[in-house]
This record gives sequence, structure tokens and C-alpha cells, in this order.
Amino acid sequence: SLGGIAVENARLYERATVDMMTGLKNHAYFQSRTKEEREKAIKRKQPLSLMLTDVDKFKTFNDTYGHQAGDEVLKAVAKVLLTNARKTDFAARYGGEEFCLVMPGAGESLALEMADRVRREVEAMTVVHEGREMKVTMSIGVSLFDPELDAKTNKNMIERADRALYFCKRNGRNQVRSYSPDLAQSDNQSE
Ligand code: GH3
Ligand code: MG
Ligand code: MG
Repeated sequence: SLGGIAVENARLYERATVDMMTGLKNHAYFQSRTKEEREKAIKRKQPLSLMLTDVDKFKTFNDTYGHQAGDEVLKAVAKVLLTNARKTDFAARYGGEEFCLVMPGAGESLALEMADRVRREVEAMTVVHEGREMKVTMSIGVSLFDPELDAKTNKNMIERADRALYFCKRNGRNQVRSYSPDLAQSDNQSE
């Protein structure tokens, strides 16, 4: 039936756009949806923010607890992003242990507020795997869509969030930063 075809198509679409392990949107979906959101932001003259998250010292975590335990932690972290996403936001697995939340309509202060809430919830969380209690922290970089810089591609906006994230890592981890040019400068100077 046509209804059956529609249901089957929805199932196929879901499978092609969602990361199986975490339930977050996958990288391909992230890229195409972010492009759409940039276009909407320009048309509607509304802000658009991006947060890029990265688990702190996750290599050491895997070495200590094992890769399976690491996977359980990533699922729990993904859940924090999903529960904090507003109706118009979407959360995606950028790659590996790096996730993002795209926030249409959110300016810098709201994006930072949301990022810090996510950071605090991850910090407060305990994941139990095979009877062991495990904790992680996470660093988060935030960038704000800029029509001047980001009219054509997702790339620069992602790079700015990554720069801000890198600053968090250099500055002690378990923190949130939004990109600013002087942040990049202070980063260069310390290199
Ligand atoms: P930091 O980000 O704080 O600088 O240190 P890190 O050790 O987390 O940094 P790095 O990015 O070098 O390491 C990321 C680690 O994440 C390495 C990789 O084994 C692990 N990882 C990536 N994807 C997965 C996954 O799907 N499952 C598990 N268990 N580990 C993963
Ligand atoms: Mg990483
Ligand atoms: Mg990491």
C-alpha cells in the first residue's frame, strides 16, 4: 500500500541519517541540515549557533575502562545533548567522541548558557558499566553564524567552534568558550 511505502521510506531515511550507536544525527545529516539552517538564518535575519563537544581525556578513559565502557559513556553523553535540545535544535555526532548541537534562533548568550548546562550535566553524571562507576568531563566550543563569513559554507563556522574548543582544552578542559578573534590570537601566541 501507499501507506506502507511511506512508512518504509521513513524507516530508510531514519536509517540513513541517524548514528546507530548514539541515536544522534550522523555527519552527513549534520552537514546538509546546517546548510539549510544557514540559509534560513539569512532569510529570517535570525541568529544561529553551533556547539561542538569533545570528551576530555577519552583516550585514557578507554585505556582504563575499555572501549565498550567508552561506548556506554558516549551513549549517555548523547542523551544529555538530546534532552537539552530544544524543538528546533538538532544534535549530531560530528565524529568519534565529538558531538554537536545546532541551535537556530540562539544568540551567543543563550548558546553559552545551553553549552554550560550540557557541560555541568555531563560532569554530574555517573555511568555504571559492569558494576563500575565511571565519570567523564567534556569541553565545549561555541560559534555564532556570521552572514559575512558563513554565507557559502559550513566550514568556517565549524572551524571557529573547533578553535574555541581547542582553547578550552589548552586552558584546563571541563569548560565552555565561544569563539572570538582575540581568543584565536592568544592561542597563536602560546604556540
Ligand atoms: P582531549 O580531547 O581531552 O584532548 O583528549 P582525548 O584523549 O579525548 O583526545 P583525542 O581526540 O586524541 O582522543 C579521542 C579518543 O576517543 C580516541 C578514540 O579511541 C576515542 N573514541 C573515538 N570514538 C570512539 C567510540 O566510538 N567509542 C569509544 N569507546 N572511543 C572512541
Ligand atoms: Mg577528540
Ligand atoms: Mg577528547
